[in-house]
Amino acid sequence: MNAEYVKKLALPEEVKEIYPVTAEMEQAVINTKREVERVIEGFSDKLILIIGPCSADNEDSVIDYISRLRPLQEKVEDKIIIVPRIYTNKPRTTGEGYKGMLHQPNPNERSDLFKGILATRHLHMRAIAETGFACADEMLYPENYAYLDDLLAYVAVGARSVEDQQHRLTASAIASPVGMKNPTSGDYAVMLNAILAASHPHTFIYRGWEIESKGNPHAHAILRGYTNKHGESQPNYHFEDLIRLSEQYEEKNLPNPAAIIDTNHANSNKNPYAQPRIIKEVLNSMRLSPEVRNLVKGFMVESYIEDGCQKVGGGVYGKSITDPCLGWEKTEKLVFDIAELLS
Ligand code: PEP
Ligand code: MN
Repeated sequence: MNAEYVKKLALPEEVKEIYPVTAEMEQAVINTKREVERVIEGFSDKLILIIGPCSADNEDSVIDYISRLRPLQEKVEDKIIIVPRIYTNKPRTTGEGYKGMLHQPNPNERSDLFKGILATRHLHMRAIAETGFACADEMLYPENYAYLDDLLAYVAVGARSVEDQQHRLTASAIASPVGMKNPTSGDYAVMLNAILAASHPHTFIYRGWEIESKGNPHAHAILRGYTNKHGESQPNYHFEDLIRLSEQYEEKNLPNPAAIIDTNHANSNKNPYAQPRIIKEVLNSMRLSPEVRNLVKGFMVESYIEDGCQKVGGGVYGKSITDPCLGWEKTEKLVFDIAELLS
């Protein structure tokens, strides 16, 4: 290969020995997974709110942010299940730029993937231990899921990965809900085929083993908007988009038709302040149509301590270094507004 082999990395079992889960953490993960699964199965009509920064760039500010969600969760617990976003791997369209904590545990220093593996596990563990939240992460590299499989309550497959076979097969082996995003082109069929593939058992190669997956009945859609042929962002959270998805779900005969609406990315044209309005529109569509109400199970919101974003190395504590986010004050108001609109 045209590459230098830099370092042999520790196996997931070895990293888990360095940072083992406690029985309490395990219970927190089981409880959150179960609650989210009940919503996806249609047995609970609470809304799932996957919320947090675009990228988990700094352990202290991410823990600070998630700690603020705790009292909020208690106040809205009869209507909303909060699953904090701790996204430690960032897909980059051209491969350039900050690729997340996994690559750069310190965004201002060069890549160190061994340190990154430890840092991501440490952060997810600290979140559960200190805030009681089991969290969500994006599965950008399927083989790395094995470093976090005992800690995550929710897994997302991103818009640039959803057509990839290894992502789909690995999702079929994951014992928690997996959200499959629509691809950047917006084609629903790609996303629904990913959900269908994940729902079935498969035999495949995973980390040097031949494995047999059981199939994941909780794989579901995430609508994140798309880019048209002129390179412009187009939304897919409007009433007609949701009805169309509901109809296409019906044709596929999938076990649990469900969708999460990602309110940033191409849906907001990366204007984070549009997120509250988008949520309110979707809640209204849910009120107007039982079909939409049955389909939409929650929202994915990009939010952090400070509004907006900054360049890597910008130095503002709690401000995104990737996509622009909704700041804490606006976030708190949004969560209360959602709870009120649901009553
Ligand atoms: C994200 O959730 O930050 C993200 C990168 O999303 P997408 O895959 O939809 O671009
Ligand atoms: Mn983002």
